[in-house]
Amino acid sequence: MDFLAPLSRNIIAPLWAAWEKSPYLHHYREMLKTQYDQPEQIYMRQFEDVKELLRHAYRTVPFWKNRMDQSKFDVEKFSSLKDLLYLPLLTKTDLRKEGQGLLSTAFSVKDLHVHKTSGSTGISVVTYRDEACQQFKRAATLRSDEWSGWRLGESIALIWGNPQIRKDWKGRIRRALLEMDYVYLDTLQMNEESMDEFADALVKKTPSMLFGHAHSLYLFASYLKQKRSDVSIRPKAIVSTCMVLHDFEREGISDVFSCQVTNRYGCEEVSLIACECCTGDGLHVNSDCLFVELIDDAGNCCQAGQPGRIVVTDLKNMAMPIIRYEVGDMGMWAAKPCSCGRTLPLLAKIEGRVADYVVTRDGNYISGISLTENFAVIIPGVSQLQIVQEEIDRFTFNIVKGYEFNEKSTDKLRKLVKKYFGDEVCYECVFLDKIPQESSGKYRFCISKVGRCFDQQNEIS
Ligand SMILES: [Zn+2]
Repeated sequence: MDFLAPLSRNIIAPLWAAWEKSPYLHHYREMLKTQYDQPEQIYMRQFEDVKELLRHAYRTVPFWKNRMDQSKFDVEKFSSLKDLLYLPLLTKTDLRKEGQGLLSTAFSVKDLHVHKTSGSTGISVVTYRDEACQQFKRAATLRSDEWSGWRLGESIALIWGNPQIRKDWKGRIRRALLEMDYVYLDTLQMNEESMDEFADALVKKTPSMLFGHAHSLYLFASYLKQKRSDVSIRPKAIVSTCMVLHDFEREGISDVFSCQVTNRYGCEEVSLIACECCTGDGLHVNSDCLFVELIDDAGNCCQAGQPGRIVVTDLKNMAMPIIRYEVGDMGMWAAKPCSCGRTLPLLAKIEGRVADYVVTRDGNYISGISLTENFAVIIPGVSQLQIVQEEIDRFTFNIVKGYEFNEKSTDKLRKLVKKYFGDEVCYECVFLDKIPQESSGKYRFCISKVGRCFDQQNEIS
């Protein structure tokens, strides 16, 4: 499929990493070993990492010093990961309110990577990451992506909204040599023409990996099944990410491409959290970079089989210590270890983001995830957002206002509506204090009450 891939993987990637002075391949090789460590070793390593992070946060971040002092939390007496339960959760509201106040004084903001996102519950937040942390995340993502069967250096096709493709000379060379010049389908504008073009491109050069949001992969698969039964696209791997992958979506995608679907879970604030391996037993936690807790409503740790709120501590981000961060999703620990032999903690299930596709009058399908992400990040002062398509030309925007919400925000919203849905649509903004999560733990970002022709099994209410 990719006959140059071994050259790319074994020679070009290491040379490129050396030229970039990036240690990610070194971390990656280490992580190939640590995924099989004894659980006690993993626990001890995480304990040491958490302790070091707590000390660093106490010393260099005034927010954390105040919070630990107020909670009477003594870092020097930290003797078990369960002691973390004495520290209050870090919420999205904290992130929004504190902003750069959460940064460590040991770093200069100009040296940091900025990540802006609508988060996993439609709440817009900004996080910062140092370069060393970035390289650990890169290595962990590479390791888990390879669990799908794809290998570094092989080609990738993306189904994504606004993919960040570097267009400078370095970006172009990198894509050509390392990623085999991937193709993408824009999820902010999926229609019969763009899906046809994408299908033809994949037939001409089948990618090793097909990567995208669960509902976008499913929409494309459904389109191929109904309209393009003439084509056969057989990637080696399919990685679905960023939102809940329903069983019917997994089966539908897998059936059309004759390929297993690997479910990956993460969020922009801390990057990869967990990913499935090839067994389908569950999702392995990225324990090299994160410590993950599942807690019940009383704040206690959950046992296997008991659903709980997902709380993460980022072990690598020293620039902006993220300790006991409540992601906004629900998870459940698996009752037994994975049959693949990896010892990284195993999540049996995750309930998180759910979103419909919006259908426009001129036949465009717009990914609800990409749409909410764009609107929440671009419109100033939107604290939380949910988009509801009531009828083909009528929308409701449920908005929780942030303090910086003003006329510019409503003006920006009007322009975005026009850009994505056209001149003819009408809409209403409803301002709320909170957009609730469903009792199952699902957060519905984008709800469309309009039927879709390719996807008969959607969860329209
Ligand atoms: Zn496994």
